[in-house]
Amino acid sequence: MSSAITYSPAPVAARVDGVPVAAVTLDETIGRILEMSTTPTTDVLVGVNAHVINLARHDARLRAFLETTTFNYADGQSVVWAARSLGVTLPERVATTDLGPALIDAAAGMNAPVYFLGGAPGISTAAAARMRERTPGASIRSAHGYFGEAGSDEVLSDIRAHGTRILFVGLGDPLQENWIQQHRDALPPVVLTCGGLFDWLSGAHRRAPKMMQQGGLEWLWRLAIEPRRLARRYLVGNPAFVAAVVRQRATLRTAGARRQIA
Ligand code: UDP
Repeated sequence: MSSAITYSPAPVAARVDGVPVAAVTLDETIGRILEMSTTPTTDVLVGVNAHVINLARHDARLRAFLETTTFNYADGQSVVWAARSLGVTLPERVATTDLGPALIDAAAGMNAPVYFLGGAPGISTAAAARMRERTPGASIRSAHGYFGEAGSDEVLSDIRAHGTRILFVGLGDPLQENWIQQHRDALPPVVLTCGGLFDWLSGAHRRAPKMMQQGGLEWLWRLAIEPRRLARRYLVGNPAFVAAVVRQRATLRTAGARRQIA
């Protein structure tokens, strides 16, 4: 990645079931984040996958929030496939689990302090320790994600005290989006939602083999790890997502045919 590149806001390339998604690569996303991390305003990025899009279908607040982000990127392979079936080629999946460590390396190179917020007690601290081991220059502070409504002020002042430029919020959907929305004015230059990222970075969960990731089967691996919590999300959610995309495709085709007739 060349430091000479400058980035304008990523345009919306596709709407998957109404949710805007940008066409960005992993490297481009990191470049944009580094640039945003030096500005006085707050930029929010959300990695969208089938689960987020399913939630947004029934949650007007989440749907509206996804319109207010700087951009949303395709965290899930299913979003890349869905966009393609709707006629838009996204350059690649930007899995937040890949983006996290790569961004921490890049942030360390710029002396940009990072904050991990979320996960069960001890998990984000362990994730931060592992990342510091991996990238010795990284400045990372952390707090767990079970602070309750009353704990937000304390968390926010700790984020400020660290001089945080890049904040990862991993509270799960839609709690993380709601929290960001509620505290947006008090947040650092870059905020990313990251779901269970700290569970992976801490080593508490092992990532799916590369072949499963590339084949869009990471969900199956996760289902095997946490069947009780994730059964509904994937076994009900995946077919619901496919059905929504099929509906959208049919609507687009009908609209296209109408335009041709007119
Ligand atoms: N979590 C949290 N606070 C809460 C609820 C959840 O910090 O009040 C954390 C939880 O410990 C887990 C993450 O949020 O680390 C949710 O992960 P999930 O697997 O649902 O996210 P995904 O990666 O699928 O988006």
